[in-house]
Amino acid sequence: MEKSDIINVSKNRGEKGNYVKPILKGLQFTMGNFFKKPVTIQYPDQKTVRSQRWRGLHKLNVDEKGELKCVACGLCAAVCPSQAITILAREDEGGTRHPEKFEVNELRCIFCGFCQDACPKSAISLTKIYEYVNYNREDFVFDISILKTTGEKWNS
Ligand code: SF4
Ligand code: SF4
Repeated sequence: MEKSDIINVSKNRGEKGNYVKPILKGLQFTMGNFFKKPVTIQYPDQKTVRSQRWRGLHKLNVDEKGELKCVACGLCAAVCPSQAITILAREDEGGTRHPEKFEVNELRCIFCGFCQDACPKSAISLTKIYEYVNYNREDFVFDISILKTTGEKWNS
């Protein structure tokens, strides 16, 4: 090994006992911030304001009779880049389509909002809900009953 290969890692170390100045510098910084307004908040008691464009969990909207507005056209599922929406349709006697099965996999979803924008019936919307927990991944596949009551289970 050449002498030039050796790196002296202690080269920039201060003189022995020269620690008072760094401590004072640290204390000065601490005291300088001690009386300033905190930048943190007491979550979950306090919450930050979310942007108008924030998108959270999905909700299936109903009409004045409490019926789903969705006509199972499949546009939302077709436009979804994550393939997070699964729909099975059925037709009633009058020829109107209804969703037999409507599922959103919230773990696949990237909350782009395309499904909401594509829907011709304003039947699906994205809420402001961002706090949600479950014990199993499967429980994040929301079916019609959950999607109809999203806001009741998790407060926004
Ligand atoms: S928000 Fe985007 S990714 Fe999520 S279900 Fe809708 S279209 Fe798919
Ligand atoms: S939610 Fe809207 S776009 Fe999706 S299937 Fe129902 S009516 Fe069509």
